[in-house]
Amino acid sequence: MWKLLDLILPARCPACGRPSDSRRHAPFCSGCWSSVTRAPEVKRCTTCGVALPSDYSFKCLSCIKESPHYRRAYVFGDYSGTLKAAINLLKFEGLRRLSVPLGALLCSLPLPPVDLILPVPLSRERLVQRGFNQSHLLGLRLSRGLSVPLEPALLIRSKDTVPQSTLSRDERLKNPRGAFSVSASARRRLPRRVVIVDDVMTTGATLNECARVLVREGVEEVHAAVLARTRTE
Ligand SMILES: [Zn+2]
Ligand SMILES: [Zn+2]
Repeated sequence: MWKLLDLILPARCPACGRPSDSRRHAPFCSGCWSSVTRAPEVKRCTTCGVALPSDYSFKCLSCIKESPHYRRAYVFGDYSGTLKAAINLLKFEGLRRLSVPLGALLCSLPLPPVDLILPVPLSRERLVQRGFNQSHLLGLRLSRGLSVPLEPALLIRSKDTVPQSTLSRDERLKNPRGAFSVSASARRRLPRRVVIVDDVMTTGATLNECARVLVREGVEEVHAAVLARTRTE
């Protein structure tokens, strides 16, 4: 049995080194995967989902200063531990099947009713390089889970931006400005309520820019569903 499984699965869990024991979230073992939970003890900003330092606040300072264009970002967890390892294996090592258990985490978020699911698009160059858009794969799982259609071509990445991870916070906030637009064919039939899907949220500038163009085109409610948020902005 294990010999056969070894052929199908990489032998070891990348988080703890024990043998993989389930195809559902392989190569992660059941013990490590069960640690990926929506920690209720983490208090998050009710708008952008960033972890808050105090139990007595509901919004972070940046959302108090300036509300984002989206109504709320629903965040599953912190970008750390097994969740981070799984996202990175999907994205950088091309383990696409991890979009299934990761997508199931997105489906567990308390999202409001929406009419359409929109993945954050990658630039053409990045898409060619990677061969797939992880947000699209995650969006597909959410679409199946919620029985809401997915429209991967509605948002267009019109400008290639520098990867956010290589920039300072100030640069990150400005970087996505003007990077997205709504496809001309979609303009006349835009839905009222949408949820944008992304894997990792850092400053939230990318999601905010997507939301800005959607609201400008007349979408009434823009929400965001995100797997992981970095601890500090
Ligand atoms: Zn493990
Ligand atoms: Zn906030």
